[in-house]
Amino acid sequence: MHTHHNALGLASALRPVQPVTLIRPLAARRAARFFVEKFLGRSLYAVKANPSPDLLKELWDSGITHYDVASIAEVRLVAETLPDAVLCFMHPVKAEEAIAEAYLRYGVRTFSLDTMEELEKIVTATGGATDLNLLVRIRVSSDHSKLSLAAKFGAEPDEMKALLIAARQAADALGICFHVGSQAMTPAAYAEAMERVRAAIVAAAVTVDIVDVGGGFPSSYPGMEPPPLTLYFETIHRAFEDLPISYSAELWCEPGRALCAEYASLVVRVEKRRGDTLYINDGAYGALFDAAHVGWRFPVKLLREPESEVRDMAFSFYGPTCDDLDHMAGPFLLPADVKAGDYLEIGMLGAYGCAMRTRFNGFGSDLTVVAEDEPMASLYLGDAEERAVPSNVVTL
Ligand SMILES: *Cc1c(COP(=O)(O)O)cnc(C)c1O
Repeated sequence: MHTHHNALGLASALRPVQPVTLIRPLAARRAARFFVEKFLGRSLYAVKANPSPDLLKELWDSGITHYDVASIAEVRLVAETLPDAVLCFMHPVKAEEAIAEAYLRYGVRTFSLDTMEELEKIVTATGGATDLNLLVRIRVSSDHSKLSLAAKFGAEPDEMKALLIAARQAADALGICFHVGSQAMTPAAYAEAMERVRAAIVAAAVTVDIVDVGGGFPSSYPGMEPPPLTLYFETIHRAFEDLPISYSAELWCEPGRALCAEYASLVVRVEKRRGDTLYINDGAYGALFDAAHVGWRFPVKLLREPESEVRDMAFSFYGPTCDDLDHMAGPFLLPADVKAGDYLEIGMLGAYGCAMRTRFNGFGSDLTVVAEDEPMASLYLGDAEERAVPSNVVTL
């Protein structure tokens, strides 16, 4: 894979006709080490956020040994890429065939569930195995998060007692898991969820061996700058210490976004300008699904030398397909003299950007290069107060 110092260097050297993905392995390593060192428990990487084998290897090399997988294809991918990784099948609704293959062929021992039917399915598919870690998923509020995960999965608090008691009988280790929703903007989301966990444990009066606080750890985007991650960890550690569980119980988390958002950005070309709208060569069916469908704003930068001195103005983007839905409202702030033929870097696309690309309408490309500079924003540059901010990083 080619290496360039930064996006400007790449755009100047290659003048690429297709969008190019820029990856920053050091940013992924830094995020992984942060979780490994500062989260006082086990950090599982949620593979759906970005299943790139190159990224999986960086995370493994940085100490991430456990992987949250949600489909049999993710099980196979991680097992083939990282043969020694521990896989945890954390989708609460699985095909029986997928459970059987994961258990028998890939040695998966950890499964989540939120109904009695799923528990029976797991027991049947594993032939009544006695070596299972079973995590019962409880529904919690997504009120503090930018993307809800509250509607689809999770047992209601009043269903938890029967589920925990039944799962206790089938499990070697019993756990409770939840997901506060993606991009949780305050640690209070976890404190509130842990209160539900406490109530469920007290009501069921069972021994709980694992508490898994799920994903939701934020990253930094324009207009969505979260508090430092250490505050999230402190809140979770404190709540965990207060739970009525055994001294040897384990604390787990499942970060997706927080481990990979900074890993990738995209270099695109402006193909046309119409007023304050730029037609660019990637969009809603490419890496910009969230920008189009949930109004997410990503940091943008004009790649031009010498730098434009013109003041910024707000732009929206159209992607390359023939579809009106291929529209990213932004606002994206760029120098007012941006024009067709210019290149832009769109940052923070390592999570749920690159992973969701399609080839709809014949657009999109796999061209990937390594960049050596800092990502366009970072939550891992030291404590907020004493942060040394490189010139290309958005200050929080
Ligand atoms: C998507 C998902 C995650 C990762 O969520 P992030 O918000 O990216 O941290 C973790 N656990 C489960 C069960 C998920 O579905």
